[in-house]
Parts: sequence; C-alpha cells; structure tokens
Amino acid sequence: MKEKDPYLPSKALYQVKRLAQLQENKPISPTLLQVDPEAFCNDNCAFCSYREEKMYNNVMLPLIDAKVGDSNKLGPVGRPTERSGWPVELAETFPKMMIEAGIPAIEITGGGEPTLWRGFDSLLENCQTAGLDTAVVTNASNMPDHRAKLLARTRQEIVKNLNLETRM
Ligand code: SF4
Repeated sequence: MKEKDPYLPSKALYQVKRLAQLQENKPISPTLLQVDPEAFCNDNCAFCSYREEKMYNNVMLPLIDAKVGDSNKLGPVGRPTERSGWPVELAETFPKMMIEAGIPAIEITGGGEPTLWRGFDSLLENCQTAGLDTAVVTNASNMPDHRAKLLARTRQEIVKNLNLETRM
C-alpha cells in the first residue's frame, strides 16, 4: 500500500480559515502545541536528541542537574528536581488557555518522560474533556492501569519510544 505523503500541499485546505486571516493581515493561532512537561527521563536512549552534544534542546540538562557529556550506562541521566517539571497547576489551566487561544491540538512529549510529571494524568484528562486533539509520546515505562485506560481514550496517537539499545 502506498504511504500518504504527510507534506501534501492540499493539507492547506484544512486551514482555509487561517489562510483567509493571513490574507487579511490578521494574526493566527498555531494548529498544534508540542509541550514537554517533565525534563527528567527514566531511560537513557543512545539516540536521545535531548542529551546529545551540539543539540539545541540539550539546554534542558541543567533542569535535571546534568550537563552535556554526562553518561550513565546503567540508568538515567540527571534526576528529577524542583525545576524539572511544570508547575502542577498547568494541568488545569493549560487546556483552558489553549481553547481560549483557538489552538485545537496538543502533543505531550519530551525530552523527559511526560508520564513522570505529577500533573500528567490531570493534564491528559483535562485536554480530553476540553475537546483538544491529543497525542502523547512516551516510553511507556510508567503505565499503571488507570493511565493506560486514560491513554486509550486519547483520540489521536500514542507513540511508544522504543529503546532498542541492549545494555550490557
Ligand atoms: S525515552 Fe525519549 S526522552 Fe527518554 S532517553 Fe529515550 S529518547 Fe530520550
């Protein structure tokens, strides 16, 4: 079966209203927000772009008391800190702010493992209740039953980040 081209120009037809606003020089809101609510990850994938030297997104390392070059073959880099996760109140306020701003979709992701943030379940539930299209990127290592059930209600996509590295 031929794969769909994710960059088809006709995708713009889904955004007719936004295109019209642009033509009128009016500001438009994004169609998707990608958020990283927790900087700490309980895994340590060799390919992790959040830990690699010269990657723009390794600026989050100080949030987990780590620095570029830190390595730990047996476990995660850094540790959860006071600064590594969003303030927990955002689990409630963030979906409301998105609706008010006219942003229809959210991807809850990392680097960092989002399910380790203490507000994760509330954020996910509030996004679903608000009617946001919701995607989650997780390594699926922190998945008690109640969270798996909550994720099963996610309308869009759940991506399990597979760490295929073999630890010796
Ligand atoms: S699970 Fe994701 S955030 Fe964690 S180390 Fe692997 S690639 Fe990085």
